[in-house]
Amino acid sequence: MKTIDKMYVNGEFVTPNGTDLFDLISPTTNKLTGQVVLGNEQDVNLAVAAAKEAYKTFSQTTKEERITYLQKLHDAVAKRQDELVDVMVNEYGGTYQFCKNSVGYMLSSFTTAIETLKAFEFERTVGRSKVLMQSLGVVGIITPWNSSNGFICNKLATAISAGSTVVIKPSEMSAQQTQLLLECFHEAGLPKGVFNVINGLGTVVGNAITNHPDIAKISFTGSTAVGKSIARGAVDTLKRVTLELGGKSPNIILDDANFETAIPMAIAAAYMNSGQACIAGTRLLVPENRLDEVNQLVKATVEKVKVGNPADEDTVVGPMVSKKQYERVQGYIKLGIEEGAQLLIGGEGQPEGLEAGNFVKPTVFTNVKNTMRIAREEIFGPVLSIITYKDEEDAIAIANDTDYGLQAYVSSGDGQRAHRVASKIVAGRVMINALTHDPHAPFGGFKQSGIGREFGSYGLEEYVEPKTLLV
Ligand code: NAD
Repeated sequence: MKTIDKMYVNGEFVTPNGTDLFDLISPTTNKLTGQVVLGNEQDVNLAVAAAKEAYKTFSQTTKEERITYLQKLHDAVAKRQDELVDVMVNEYGGTYQFCKNSVGYMLSSFTTAIETLKAFEFERTVGRSKVLMQSLGVVGIITPWNSSNGFICNKLATAISAGSTVVIKPSEMSAQQTQLLLECFHEAGLPKGVFNVINGLGTVVGNAITNHPDIAKISFTGSTAVGKSIARGAVDTLKRVTLELGGKSPNIILDDANFETAIPMAIAAAYMNSGQACIAGTRLLVPENRLDEVNQLVKATVEKVKVGNPADEDTVVGPMVSKKQYERVQGYIKLGIEEGAQLLIGGEGQPEGLEAGNFVKPTVFTNVKNTMRIAREEIFGPVLSIITYKDEEDAIAIANDTDYGLQAYVSSGDGQRAHRVASKIVAGRVMINALTHDPHAPFGGFKQSGIGREFGSYGLEEYVEPKTLLV
């Protein structure tokens, strides 16, 4: 049993003013593993005051100084990679495979930020004017549990690149991961107050960050519902917002694709992070005259998907993060059956022998209509819907018939055709015959998947604002 009873303010681990406790429960065993002391509004005020003070000097640092800090953060995180993987696996049940990649993503956040910063022009000439790209001020960072430390690293690296200081509120369910990451950040020896971290509930600490007059911008990753409430709250002080929200990503398999490779890739896209991923490809769009073949291939692939102990290197689907999330996924499986979708594999209940944790059966529905709720709502678990299309145009129309627009996938044997289809899909990123990541390329959503972009120079632009000097 571990109690996390410190927050991080002004370069020190300090005791929060808040005294409420939140239980940390292993999703693999449902046993209590620890508790975290939750901060309150007073704690947010202290953190913002520290960040505001630090901003006075940090905003004046040179590119070279910021690069040095980013490198120090990178090196401190790199030293504890194995522990960072383990704590993710244990705390939220992320699979070893996913968590290892996620720690790689954390490190690449810093290296990419360094490369971006080197090339970024903070002074530009436009017409007869000089334009200074100026940092916004103190940034509030609010993150979800499903890759908590990755999001913190990326957002912090971008803020530092811009010359901003930050107040971070991670998910209350990520306290142990946050603690370890904070130990790394502390070791990096940045000036006091550049980063401050308050554990706490969204409705308390998150809300206080949203409303605080001394916070200039919020960078949020999480659900669309909470993103909307942050945007509403941010209006009163006209905070800038970057919102990375939910998704219901389409995966179009064109008729000329190699189904033998495209289908296993589609299952990997649907079940990444045990299906608890905003970019999961949860709507598989296939030609209607090839449905039988697709069903067979999908079934054969999913039968081989290993569900179980997330620490095992070959586990693909681990437990759902919480009992609540488990119940939510079960609810959607039940709903799919009620809506008349055909259950191809999986279904309600737990896989045999895994009753102690929040494990669900990797599930696929076929003959799904895009109007069904299982095809429209984010389930956030390993549940895939197969939907048929008549022709290319129909596939694009179904892909775009969604409130979301975060990511999409296209498989085709013809590169030009795949590009044509990809260009017509309304989504921030489209993967063509691939399941990969480019930390330099913009990432973010159209429609209700969010506002703004992260990564590389597009991401950095969101943390600065142009100021024109006219002589
Ligand atoms: P969530 O929206 O419930 O919580 C995210 C964070 O917001 C947490 O730190 C939470 O405590 C905080 N929060 C909750 N209520 C708040 C409020 N009223 N004011 C301020 N902060 C508040 O999301 P979650 O369950 O932690 O994560 C899953 C969701 O995140 C999914 O919808 C998923 O699609 C989304 N997500 C999006 C991306 C992306 O990059 N687009 C990446 C990962 C996850």
